[in-house]
Amino acid sequence: MCLSLSCTHHNPIACIVPPYMLRVLALRGDAATAQMARTLLRHDEALRDERAAHASPPVAAEGVLPMADPGLCCPERRIHDGEFRAALPGRLVRSEGEAPSGIADADLAYDSAGQVFSLFAEEYGRNSLDGRGMPLVATVQHRRDYNNAFWNGEQMAYGTGDGRIFRTFLELSVIGHEMAHGVIQHSGGLIYENQSGALNESIADVFGALSLQRALDQQVHEADWLVGRGILGPGVNGRALRSMKAPGTAYADDLLGQDPQPWHMDHFVTTTDDNGGVHINSGIPNHAFYLFCAYLGGRSWQLPGRIWYRALQDLNNPMASFSDWADQTLRTASALTGQGSMEGQLLRRAWKLVGIAL
Ligand SMILES: [Zn+2]
Repeated sequence: MCLSLSCTHHNPIACIVPPYMLRVLALRGDAATAQMARTLLRHDEALRDERAAHASPPVAAEGVLPMADPGLCCPERRIHDGEFRAALPGRLVRSEGEAPSGIADADLAYDSAGQVFSLFAEEYGRNSLDGRGMPLVATVQHRRDYNNAFWNGEQMAYGTGDGRIFRTFLELSVIGHEMAHGVIQHSGGLIYENQSGALNESIADVFGALSLQRALDQQVHEADWLVGRGILGPGVNGRALRSMKAPGTAYADDLLGQDPQPWHMDHFVTTTDDNGGVHINSGIPNHAFYLFCAYLGGRSWQLPGRIWYRALQDLNNPMASFSDWADQTLRTASALTGQGSMEGQLLRRAWKLVGIAL
């Protein structure tokens, strides 16, 4: 499975705050903000190196497990308190089945991990992130004033934010996003650069948004389709990190600048920054997913989520382009809803509207 030199990219450090946001802060921020951003950028790089050293080939795609799998009922959560230090995983404060720890962040991480587990188990028949019941390990209060959250290939870690630019990272779409990186890693592992990397980011956003919508039992038109709503600090002019409904509009701030996400291939950004724009161009497949859901109506974690999940299991192409992925979703839609179905036609229309004609 491991593709020679590329294999270190299978299991990347996946941080929720993209490096281009940090670079802007390093350039435009006051002395303290610029210092914070430079430190985070250095930390980001160190995490990547560490991950590359431990990278293992991904396991084969799990497919849909039979619902009889006894593990499907029960997550195995282990939430740690980082106590504002850098060491991972920190002090274990709540294991599966235990009463609330009294640490608000830890209890929120526990409940949210349960909701994400339940999405994958009950809707898609998957037993945890690896399909084999792996424990859900998370650290809250990671480092002091830490403005990021990440999946490092083995666990999630969440900073508290500095209270100024970010106020928290414990929000269900962010937690679902980070955990979905674990699912993607174990399902063929889209390589984290260029278009396949943007697909990795987009699919993480999709399951992050679906985790939240399912927890709130929202229909497509009731949902805000934001990733990270409420995590930006009080002084920042913005609603969230990203918008799937209207990419490019999540924030417009004196310090952070304008949300750079395009929603159409005409505005695809070619860059070497951000692993080839993985957090930028993800707006395009994000918007296609949103459009498909909007055309269908109803609950997006049902048929649309099922198509995206099955397509990921069957993709078998770690370097997939947007067109490859669109094609796979259409094949999966045909398999689930029949050749020439209305759903398949609507999906084709959604891809066409973002500039991917098949
Ligand atoms: Zn990510």
